[in-house]
Amino acid sequence: MKNSYAVVTGASSGIGAEFARCLAKEGYPLILTARRRDRLEELESELKAQGTECHIITADLSQKEECYRLMEELSGRTIGVFINNAGFGDCGVFLETDVDKELDMIDVNVKAVHLLTKLVLRKMEKQDGGYLLNVASSAGLFPSGPYMATYYATKSYVASLTRAVATELKEIGSNVYIGALCPGPVDTEFNSVANVEFALPGITPEYCAAYAIKQMKRRKVIIVPTLTMKMATVGGRIIPLAASARITGHQQKKKLTKNS
Ligand code: NAP
Repeated sequence: MKNSYAVVTGASSGIGAEFARCLAKEGYPLILTARRRDRLEELESELKAQGTECHIITADLSQKEECYRLMEELSGRTIGVFINNAGFGDCGVFLETDVDKELDMIDVNVKAVHLLTKLVLRKMEKQDGGYLLNVASSAGLFPSGPYMATYYATKSYVASLTRAVATELKEIGSNVYIGALCPGPVDTEFNSVANVEFALPGITPEYCAAYAIKQMKRRKVIIVPTLTMKMATVGGRIIPLAASARITGHQQKKKLTKNS
């Protein structure tokens, strides 16, 4: 679609910032959102210096009203790509983890993604096209994730919702694409926010975003960037649920370095 914008949530760091750089290289004018204005402004300056049209909208997506405000600010524009990327995790024993942080996580990882998916898809249907990519996680493809229980549950929601809606769109012959990016560990600020250290080596956010965009353009619904995670998530689904939970829990427990 000509003159269409790419919107990236959670663009102030990590995978979101790399999505912005990749989409700029593809020639999209950008709209970037997150809470940290200073970080967004730094990225805006970098991209504008390279000749990319770039706008920033600060928003706290844990607030429903802020999601509606973001969509209101996008109302006059055609949205070619929308990357629903903002999110965070937490790690620990469920009996002990901070419930307010978890409810905030559900607001950002589930409710905001749900609401923005609905509003963006309605807009894209009216436009008769567009790409909506939800950033889930390989965590969302495992049956459960002991010691990172809430995060795994939020990402399962995103993967399940995305798969279901993709099927519905296909059945009505829609030109609108929806997919879910499900990476394993990626080296970003995620760890310090989630209070973890990865059990496995991470991929770079540059590789993750570039791979995701390539697969999105091929209209792949579930996108898993590495062979190791592809095999792990398939394995996690074919073995008995209790065994899968034990193995995943064993991996997650290794991450409990800071808060154990
Ligand atoms: P990151 O560097 O910590 O980036 C997270 C982004 O989300 C930041 O831009 C942050 O911006 C934004 N965000 C968080 N809470 C927000 C809120 N309430 N309102 C608006 N924006 C908010 O971590 P990342 O790894 O790039 O994470 C991006 C996505 O990838 C997340 O959905 C994460 O679950 C997913 N993921 C990460 C990994 C990994 O290993 N890193 C693996 C699989 C999936 P502000 O703080 O400025 O608001």
